[in-house]
Amino acid sequence: MAAGASLYAEVAARMNAQQQRFTSSRRQIVEVLAAQDRPLSIPEILEATPEVAQSSAYRNIAVLEKAGVVTRVMSSDEWARFELAEDLIGHHHHLMCAGCGVVQDIVVPDSIEHELDKTLAVVAKRAGFLLQHHRLDLIGMCVSCQ
Ligand SMILES: [Zn+2]
Ligand SMILES: [Zn+2]
Ligand SMILES: [Zn+2]
Repeated sequence: MAAGASLYAEVAARMNAQQQRFTSSRRQIVEVLAAQDRPLSIPEILEATPEVAQSSAYRNIAVLEKAGVVTRVMSSDEWARFELAEDLIGHHHHLMCAGCGVVQDIVVPDSIEHELDKTLAVVAKRAGFLLQHHRLDLIGMCVSCQ
């Protein structure tokens, strides 16, 4: 998704609601995440934001996470990865490599999402559960690990 002005206004509002400042370091982290079509690990975020001090990056990401701006994505390796929250960038799924742990965003066509939701709602209902939304990861091998 393009990093439009409305994204930054929404992020600023969420920071404000947490009594947190939308500092330039935090803005740079949001910019880097918005420019990617995959979640990034902290080393990748640090590499892309040379002006953000490493010591403050962890705290900044924790603040952004708590404000509901950033969500944590766990893959098959030891790295937590981070991306902008789904309500900011849109519903999507993840391709996860079982070899190297790389994660790629993937958008499923609306018609398939619709069928998925219908089917999952039935399965959930059988368990007495009211479905609100879903997360679904696709695990396999990336091009370089095949
Ligand atoms: Zn791989
Ligand atoms: Zn994603
Ligand atoms: Zn979906």
